[in-house]
Order: sequence, then structure tokens, then C-alpha cells
Amino acid sequence: MIIMRSLLVVCIIATAIATGCSQTAQKSTDQPVVSQTIVPVQVEKPDYVWDGKTIEKPDSVWQKQLSPDQYYVIRQAGTERPFQNAYYDNHAKGIYYCVGCGLPLFSSEHKFDSGTGWPSYYQPIRPEHIGSDTDLDIGYPRTEIHCARCDAHLGHMFNDAPQTPTGNRYCINSAALIFKKE
Ligand SMILES: [Zn+2]
Repeated sequence: MIIMRSLLVVCIIATAIATGCSQTAQKSTDQPVVSQTIVPVQVEKPDYVWDGKTIEKPDSVWQKQLSPDQYYVIRQAGTERPFQNAYYDNHAKGIYYCVGCGLPLFSSEHKFDSGTGWPSYYQPIRPEHIGSDTDLDIGYPRTEIHCARCDAHLGHMFNDAPQTPTGNRYCINSAALIFKKE
């Protein structure tokens, strides 16, 4: 009887620990890391069409405008951690704007779950809002993509999404984006 009771206690404790762990794990992945710029960025209207004028600012101005994470991603072509960023699991309807200059870049309409841990889209709102380059940062050529207006590094584009209408996957850092609900 005593053995049974101690077994029961062990079971209760084990269950409590297991539940506790899963709750902690859920919290760390579910809590969005909200991108806030230090100096607020005015975003354009969702249907804004870029006039072709580029925005250039001295590095010191970018550093004052952006949080360290945003600066690292868009000015130093950094990559944020997967599954621990603001928008990878965002299913709200709305528009994603450039964190550097407020240009509309992506729409929730073209967002899909790629399972990579970064927000993924099969196409931009307007192809002319996106610039591209080839980088060899990790030893093989990849299509680097950036904001056409302010040159903010956004992420990379891959042709590995046959489940989408275009087959393309724009793999974007949340830190490069400002999301506004529609
Ligand atoms: Zn921009």
C-alpha cells in the first residue's frame, strides 16, 4: 500500500513537471517578438506604388532609427533566429512593410507556412519593390533580396515551394518587417 502511494506521488510529480515544461516551451515560441523601431517609420498606403526614388541615409542615422536586431538584419545582412521572431506564425490579414522605409513589400494573402520558422511568402506585393542579388555567404549561390527603395536586406528567395502558385519561397526576417492589420 505504501509502495502504491509513493508510486502515485511520483506519478503526480512527474505529470506536474511534464505539464510545466510543455507550458514553458509553448510560451517561448508563442510569444511574438514585436518589431518596434526607435524612430517611428511612416508606412505607405497598402496599394502604394514606388516612384523609383531610392532612400539613402548615413549609417549613424540608421543606427538611431533601428533597434539593434533590426540594424543587424537589414543593414548588416544578418539572419534572425527561426521560430523566435514576430511573424513566422502570424496568420492575421494585413500588409508587411519595410522596417527601413515603410514600403509595402508582402501581403498576408501570399503568406504560407513553410515550416522553416521564418515568415514565408510565395510572391511580393509588387515585384518592383524587391531588389535581388546573388550572395555566396554560405558557400553556394543564393538569391539575396532587399527593399528596392532603401536597400534593407530582407532575406533570400528559393525555388523550393512547389505547393505554392509560383513555386517560390521568399524567406524573410521578421526584423525587416512592420506588420499592419487590415
Ligand atoms: Zn525599405
